[in-house]
Parts: sequence; C-alpha cells; structure tokens
Amino acid sequence: MSAYGSLGSSRLDRLVRQLTRLPGIGTKSATRIALHLLHNDASESRELAECIVEMKQKVRSCKRCGAICEEEECGICRDERRRNGQLCVVEQPTDIFSLERAAVYRGRYHVLGGLLSPLDGVEPDHLRLAELVGRVKEEAISEVVLALSASVEGEATALYAARSLQGVSVRITRLATGIPVGGHLEFVDDVTLERAFSGRQNVD
Ligand SMILES: [Zn+2]
Repeated sequence: MSAYGSLGSSRLDRLVRQLTRLPGIGTKSATRIALHLLHNDASESRELAECIVEMKQKVRSCKRCGAICEEEECGICRDERRRNGQLCVVEQPTDIFSLERAAVYRGRYHVLGGLLSPLDGVEPDHLRLAELVGRVKEEAISEVVLALSASVEGEATALYAARSLQGVSVRITRLATGIPVGGHLEFVDDVTLERAFSGRQNVD
C-alpha cells in the first residue's frame, strides 16, 4: 500500500511494499520507481530482475578476507604480489574499495564484518576476529593495520583486535586521524584537533 492508498493493483502495491524495504527508499520513491517500471519497456524490468537474481546466486564473500567476489578467493588474496606481510583490517567490504581507489596500500585485507557495539548486540563473536588471529599466525603477517572508523565503536573494536593479537609477534598500527585535506581549523572538533596535535610531524 502506498502513501496514497492502493494504486489499484495488488501486484503494484506489493512491488511498492518490497521497494520500501530497501535502504533509503521511502513510500514516495518506491511508488515512483514502481510506476516507472510499469510504464517503461518490459525489457528494462526483466533486466533488473535478472540482475538481482544473478547477483544473489553468484556474488559471495572471499573465504579468506571477506571481500565481495565471485570466486572462492578474491583477486587481491590470489595476487601473490600482495602477500607482503601487511594485513589491513577494515569494517566492511566497501572500505576495501575506498582504500584501493586511493591506491595507498599494497598488502592484503581482512573484513571484520562490523564493529563492536554491545548496545546493538554486536559482540566479539559476531565479528571475524578469531579468523584475523588465525591469519596473522598462518600468513606470516608482520604488520596489522587497523583501518577502522574513528568512532566509539571503531575505537573499541581496534582495542579489542589489538588485545586479541597480544602474544602474537606482529606490529599493530592504526590510521592517523587529523584535519581533513582542505579543512579549516575553526571547523574541526576538539577530539580531532587534539589527535592532530599529538600526531604532529616534522616539517621536512
Ligand atoms: Zn580475499
């Protein structure tokens, strides 16, 4: 049922209901999309439906790092050149895209699948932390880079991950936090400013 009540077809109403279950799609947008599909070429709807079904069948998580891929192991894990002893820990697969786009890192990744958040019921067991420890030992990792959000959950998760790796001979680093490029001091919050200050570097 749309915001305007029934659209006159239970099938159309059903599509609108399904669309509103998608993130960021309200009833208004869902109705607009459904009507667009109704009035446009049938091939467009068929293509869209096929894309969704095929994506669900073929796309999966890399069994090693948790990235999105279509094979057992993703391209980065299969690339021997990326086996350089570095392992970058991220919250979700999309973080890998951001780091790859920036082309700042040449090692492998490990997706945790979330951040610790006891209030939301996310406990250590829900994250791929045990797999992380296993990989650090098995893959001769010399540095674990914790590339997690600079949020309360990100901090707690980074701390927990570092503690989980206690006793394992590995260097643990985390991304620096500071003033964004192009940012002005007057708009930077106190915590960021404090970290930027304590993380100051020599001017070459
Ligand atoms: Zn992988």
